[in-house]
Amino acid sequence: MKILLASSEIHPFSKTGGLADMVGALGKALARAGHDVALVTPLYGFIRAKFPNLIREEWTFDLPLGTRREQGGLWSLKVEQGLTVYFVEHPGFFDRQGIYFEGHISYADNAERFIYFSKCVAHLARYWPQPPEVVHLHDWQTALVPALMLQQRTEGWGTPPPTCLTIHNLAYQGVFPADAFALTNLPQEFFRPDGAEFYGQLNCLKTGIVFADALTTVSPRYAREITTEALGCGLDDRLRQRRKQLFGILNGVDYGEWNTAKNPYLAHPYSAAQLDGKTLCKLALQREMGLPERKEVPLFGTISRLAEQKGVDIELGALEEMLSADIQFVLLGSGSPAFELGYQKLQERFPGQVAVRLGYNEGLAHRIEAGCDFFIMPSQFEPCGLNQMYSLRYGTIPIVRATGGLDDTVTDYNQDSTRANGVKFQEYSARALAKAIRKALAIYSQPDLLHRFRRNGMKADFSWKQTVPQYLKVYESAQSLSASPQGAGAPIPDISEP
Ligand code: ADP
Repeated sequence: MKILLASSEIHPFSKTGGLADMVGALGKALARAGHDVALVTPLYGFIRAKFPNLIREEWTFDLPLGTRREQGGLWSLKVEQGLTVYFVEHPGFFDRQGIYFEGHISYADNAERFIYFSKCVAHLARYWPQPPEVVHLHDWQTALVPALMLQQRTEGWGTPPPTCLTIHNLAYQGVFPADAFALTNLPQEFFRPDGAEFYGQLNCLKTGIVFADALTTVSPRYAREITTEALGCGLDDRLRQRRKQLFGILNGVDYGEWNTAKNPYLAHPYSAAQLDGKTLCKLALQREMGLPERKEVPLFGTISRLAEQKGVDIELGALEEMLSADIQFVLLGSGSPAFELGYQKLQERFPGQVAVRLGYNEGLAHRIEAGCDFFIMPSQFEPCGLNQMYSLRYGTIPIVRATGGLDDTVTDYNQDSTRANGVKFQEYSARALAKAIRKALAIYSQPDLLHRFRRNGMKADFSWKQTVPQYLKVYESAQSLSASPQGAGAPIPDISEP
């Protein structure tokens, strides 16, 4: 199958979170399963510096953006057999230090930047010499593509390929003032409550939810959660309407990158059968973070965007309580200045026990996963979450709140004492997390139990091999849905006629 995947970030070219990991790994996995995959992403300035061997394509975009036209170029990189990444070049929009923001402030022209990018994706899907058989979009930044493609039906594109939209996090919807709608150049009929309009504003993600042929999200539990008022972020009614076309597919892990045996970031390889290397990784991590090198002390870690969603407030509260015990804690993260300050203060108050690194550091992320005994992930909600899966593979026991993908991937002792691989708690409170940390300490004090948890975790298999067939099934269902005269996601009959 010829598949076009479009995303605003793709690992290893650009990344702010799990979206990049997922799209990069899915593209690779689909190509290795024999499909012909094109990934499309913006050409951020830092990509060019890191990947000097990109090739300029003989292709230019000259597309309307409201009342003006914007020109762009196209670059490519053949990554491996069946997998090519295309980069949309527009220096004015993308040649910047950040992807969405700089110094905690979102770029003021994000609507223009990603509406333009979405137009380039729709244009490529229509005119590329090898037309895709399915177009797979990710998050709000590309969620306008199905509507843009649908509109092109009326402009002479007989049968556009079916579209699939994956929601990686419903909390980020790309909502902009109503005048941003003019940038889409879509007919005004699209700006209706059953289209792109959301309480008088333009909502990019909602537009995708309405017009894509198939919808997926990144874990089965999150697929159920987003159809409820509690976690539906105001779009639960729309999602309930599309329930039959909404699928929950757990993200896979790229074990080629996230492994403990052959990993350029780890000085001491290890495996489930040979865990000595893990102890050496722990000592090395303590050294790197400036903590006392003590292999007997339980070491907890977190790697996270410091956003409310991630449960930062309850983690700070629980640590406050638990640091009276002989434990160590390391944090790698960046985000809200108030949260960054919270961890920095904790470090000042508990020197020798808490070490904090603010910023983004891929290598350190691997070393924290490898060196820690426990990984804390107390999210308010979590569409899938990758770090708990990385932790399992690294023999680092995850402590998670039972929500979304965290609940789907971690098994608590109370669920199955023989197969337990982590600690789960339900209530969103510092007290409940502190109690979970106490349970972790009880596990730590019993070497046999600790080994069982670790072994179970390291055996867990969330590889893409299991995930690819599920996406292929969704693509097939999107094909049959879009074959219906109005397309599955076209509730406005007068503009969806072919
Ligand atoms: P989200 O996408 O909501 O941020 P996920 O758990 O799905 O959360 O994915 C987060 C990804 O980003 C993981 O690969 C994680 O290791 C990485 N990550 C997050 N913060 C940092 C950081 N400060 N440095 C390095 N990697 C980070």
